[in-house]
Amino acid sequence: DSNSHIANLDDNEKLLSGLLTSGFDEASCISRMQSHFYRKASPHKPSQYLISKLRRYEEIHRRCGPNSRSYHKSMTKIQHSKNKGVATMCKYLIWTPANGLGNQMIDLVATFLYALLTDRVLLVEFGKDKHGLFCEPFLNSTWELPQNSPFWNEKHVQTYQILLEKDKATNSTAELPSVLFINLQHTRTDPEKFFHCDHNQHVLQNIPLLILQSDQYFVPSLFMNPFFNLEITKMFPEKDIVFHHLGRYLFHPSNEAWELISSYYQQHLAKGNELIGLQIRVFSPNTTPQKSIMDLVLSCMLKHKILPEVDLQTLASSARKNQRVKVVLVASLHGEYGENLRAMYLKKHTVSGEVIQVYQSSHEEHQKSYDNKHNMKAWIDMYLLSLSDKLVTTSLSTFGYVAQGLGNLKPWLLYRLINNETGFPSCEKDFSSEPCYHVPPKHYCNGNPMKDFVSSFPYLRECKDFRFGVKMV
Ligand code: GDP
Repeated sequence: DSNSHIANLDDNEKLLSGLLTSGFDEASCISRMQSHFYRKASPHKPSQYLISKLRRYEEIHRRCGPNSRSYHKSMTKIQHSKNKGVATMCKYLIWTPANGLGNQMIDLVATFLYALLTDRVLLVEFGKDKHGLFCEPFLNSTWELPQNSPFWNEKHVQTYQILLEKDKATNSTAELPSVLFINLQHTRTDPEKFFHCDHNQHVLQNIPLLILQSDQYFVPSLFMNPFFNLEITKMFPEKDIVFHHLGRYLFHPSNEAWELISSYYQQHLAKGNELIGLQIRVFSPNTTPQKSIMDLVLSCMLKHKILPEVDLQTLASSARKNQRVKVVLVASLHGEYGENLRAMYLKKHTVSGEVIQVYQSSHEEHQKSYDNKHNMKAWIDMYLLSLSDKLVTTSLSTFGYVAQGLGNLKPWLLYRLINNETGFPSCEKDFSSEPCYHVPPKHYCNGNPMKDFVSSFPYLRECKDFRFGVKMV
């Protein structure tokens, strides 16, 4: 009958066209069931293959995850044979944090994709700073590495670099450990990573516990591996929405976060006809004058007609009826940007006749590392930005990447000012909502320099906000 038809449609919307599984206790994670009231339905449906991969993953996670018998068996075995190889029923991938929350979230999505590709169980090392931010993503289990795990903060196991060196020196496969720490984090002096290459993946396959540290969205490098490429292409026939799907699958605001997000949205943001997200990240606050940044932001927004000019002719007192309202959500560590923009439009007419309202949910002044309240504010800002109709972000900021990916938004990328230079386009519109991978390989797996990666990897393109980076199209 039509009622059950409507109920099915409703379920389909709630579960994001099958991306999410049913069966969760709804009260334990309200956002999972309510996000579709706040975010427009995505035009991108997950493929059947992705859906089946996710359901299969959930099954493995439930069977092998913390508190299961297989978990205890496998982990005990691994712990007792750290430095020599061992075969276990379940294989694991521990994610460890590096850098700010945006970096952590994009890297966590990449790590989850790697877990899906290699049938490993993803466990996250969430310290106090991330408590109460997210719901559990996997049905009937937890993704948090148990506090009493011997592998918590484990820095004394063999590292991947050493393994490779040994391998080279003996020219044979060195004896494999059962735990391996892999550092994919980017530093300027680090050697290039060949993590994705077949010969390395072949070795890693036999190691039951990998501990991974990165701060990068290394998904494009997984595409460079022929086997992974086949799998990912089946999972994502549209390649430029990997983060959009996996991010919405993994990251559900906890009830505490959801209360703050949904009430802020209803009180301030829902009133307008259009919501504009503006993320102003100042990477070099000491050398960049505030005025230069404000000029840059306005030049971008006015030029692309994201916001209207102020009308200096008409008196503000002459009220008009049925005015369109644009609401701007400013996200920045610095309160001045929201204040300046608000003051600019306050009690003034605009040439388009629209009314502009400006809100900023927080201004933390400084980036703080591993601080729970600070992270909560960051998560709220990223989520609210992702609900925008139009989004303006700062080039190179992973904070903006999370918002654009969750919201399936192609942002206008503000030029990244580091002093008061001028003479460049203030912003450019991005061609996809995927995060940019800032440090892609520069060589093929055989060591030859990658001169023209576009013809080798036609689905990768240079990022607009960083020409050394790549992302999927
Ligand atoms: P990125 O450095 O811009 O790539 O982004 P990250 O998220 O990795 O690191 C920046 C960190 O600074 C965030 O995680 C927040 O802790 C803080 N931060 C930066 N911009 C904002 C903002 O607009 N709002 C809030 N609440 N925090 C911010």
